Amino acid sequence: MKILLLGSGGREHALAWKISQSPLCGQLFIAPGNAGTAQYGQNVNIAVSDLPQLKAFCVEQGVDMVVPGSEEPLVNGIYDYFREDAALQHIPVMGPSRLGAQLEGSKAFAKQFMQRHGIPTAAYREFSEANYEEGVAYLQQHTLPVVLKADGLAAGKGVVILDSHEEAIAEFTQMIKAAKFGEASRKVVIEQFLTGIELSVFVLTDGHSYQLLPTAKDYKRIGEADTGLNTGGMGAISPVPFADGDFMQKVEAQVIQPTVAGLAAEGITYHGFIFFGLINVGGNPYVIEYNCRMGDPETEVVMPRLQNDLVALFRSLSAGTLAQESITEDPRAAATVMLVSAGYPEAYEKGKAITGVPPQSAGQLVFQAGTRESKGQLLTNGGRVLTITSLAASLPEALAHSRQTAEAIRFEGKYYRRDIGYEFV
Ligand code: ATP
Repeated sequence: MKILLLGSGGREHALAWKISQSPLCGQLFIAPGNAGTAQYGQNVNIAVSDLPQLKAFCVEQGVDMVVPGSEEPLVNGIYDYFREDAALQHIPVMGPSRLGAQLEGSKAFAKQFMQRHGIPTAAYREFSEANYEEGVAYLQQHTLPVVLKADGLAAGKGVVILDSHEEAIAEFTQMIKAAKFGEASRKVVIEQFLTGIELSVFVLTDGHSYQLLPTAKDYKRIGEADTGLNTGGMGAISPVPFADGDFMQKVEAQVIQPTVAGLAAEGITYHGFIFFGLINVGGNPYVIEYNCRMGDPETEVVMPRLQNDLVALFRSLSAGTLAQESITEDPRAAATVMLVSAGYPEAYEKGKAITGVPPQSAGQLVFQAGTRESKGQLLTNGGRVLTITSLAASLPEALAHSRQTAEAIRFEGKYYRRDIGYEFV
């Protein structure tokens, strides 16, 4: 089978590593890929948003399956684009339809969906220019802190948590009146602040049944002890120690099952990953957000712990036989520690020589994100540069092993968090 994977981050390196192990995978292409994905397949210089070019490539190469890594092509409707084109209809795309991708693409859509299906989530209301004044009045009497969310995609920056009514009204006004996040903040969700510990739960669904993948927890802040600016993710662990049998039973009964049943009942086509961003409030799960793809860096701990053939799961998913599969998890703990460029998530330099990257082994995998190769030398090419995943009998051991390698890999301006998984060690 010829498989085309879309994306260029650490997530896609981990997916390429996993897909390439499948006996069902004859040839793997990655568009556009990075220096790491090139170890497992052929990089193709096409942007993930360039649907006509992707079409031409699929037809020319006889691609049999497309795996989008990030949300962008899904929210842009790659699933529908393939289904509606006679030349592409036979090629399954592992993801939701454009409408299904709205679970991630529109926070108002996601909140309304949860409300329709009785899925636990923070209380909220949505506002736009038309009811701006009502929004200001709503904010004035809201409990603090209060959460403001731009409706659309805003590269992880569209969620703001505010401690005073004045700041909240100023931010709300910026979003609605000054289009702070462009089109994305024409609508704003005002939401109750929930206190608890977050985790990420992933399923693969064929729209009717689902399979639960290993749980993970990521660390978004740049600074140790979860301080400073938000980033794409500085590290992750799997499994999540508090996601025990009892908690996961609630997650399945109260969140996953009503979500999958809700999609089916509303006739929303969904053939791919659902990422549930959850918060554990006093032992009960609430949905913070849905994403329509895997997380990055969670994929870098989830894929190494998934013992199933991922391509076989994808094949069952598109055949509608996912219910017959069963997931096997590596009993070991996994931890990943991200090395980033000095200055990230603000301005940073690129093109620094990277040395000391160890070869992949059974207990440790290095997944590249912002890298490129020039004349045989690996160079930094982004804010998040690479991530070191270790597997070990215990989480502290896995973390220690990743930190050791994080120290040994060198590039100018390297920074990483030494406290990933701190609550659990
Ligand atoms: P991502 O970059 O993960 O896609 P996003 O921009 O889509 O994020 P959310 O995940 O909805 O936004 O929110 C970002 C973060 O804000 C959450 O991970 C969580 O820490 C915090 N947050 C969001 N909603 C709430 C809430 N209701 N109560 C407390 N914290 C919240």
